[in-house]
Amino acid sequence: MSRSLTKPLPRGCLDLHQRKVYERGARLRPAIGKPSVAKEKAMSHVNTSRRGFLVKAAMLSAVPFIAPALVGQARAQELKPLPLDNPQAKALAYALDYKTVQHPAFKPDSNCANCQFFTAATGACTLFPGFSVPAEAWCSAWAKKAG
Ligand code: SF4
Repeated sequence: MSRSLTKPLPRGCLDLHQRKVYERGARLRPAIGKPSVAKEKAMSHVNTSRRGFLVKAAMLSAVPFIAPALVGQARAQELKPLPLDNPQAKALAYALDYKTVQHPAFKPDSNCANCQFFTAATGACTLFPGFSVPAEAWCSAWAKKAG
């Protein structure tokens, strides 16, 4: 038995059985009271792993909300504003501001924002692929958005 783990015996403890019990207790006490270095390292690894998992879980749970916004932004940046001299735009009497339109097909308060061909998130119009149109623009192909 290693003497370095045991404390000096208390006075009057002379019985062999009592001595063995005391020494066994002294040997076990450090293990019970304080975790070993290896155990502390293992616990810190567990804590780090748990923290890492929680951070990753929080980030992954945000992806469904952030990703569509980022994709929409990226697509909006890819689209060029529809030029007024575009042949198809000219043919459809495209105008940047619906309030200034004086066209026989114009219906009051009709504009790209309430047109079925318009995608508000990107400014895209299905009639003008690769281009974006402002929500307040208008053209003679306007059709009321359903709903
Ligand atoms: S089709 Fe609709 S969304 Fe496209 S330019 Fe004309 S009014 Fe705007």
